[in-house]
Amino acid sequence: MMKKCMCAPAKISGLLVFVGGLNWGLVGAGMLFGSMHDMSWNLVHMLLGRWMWAEAVVYLIVGVAAIAMLFGCKCSKCASCCVAESGSAKM
Ligand SMILES: [Zn+2]
Repeated sequence: MMKKCMCAPAKISGLLVFVGGLNWGLVGAGMLFGSMHDMSWNLVHMLLGRWMWAEAVVYLIVGVAAIAMLFGCKCSKCASCCVAESGSAKM
């Protein structure tokens, strides 16, 4: 999944989407296996629940990172990587 030739912003957005996905997994696991009254397996809520705006900003950043990944990075470093990869995949 993580390409070595990706630029730093692309790597960071990949990491954010990974962390966001992991957090959703924890939320689901907490709801199923944890106490229904204490759904505190949400790491983001656990860390930033005290500051609602900070929690919201984290969700927003993860969402933006997911959209950024969907469209892909257009910088020269990522572009050269994509060209090399799609070329080898198609042939
Ligand atoms: Zn890039």
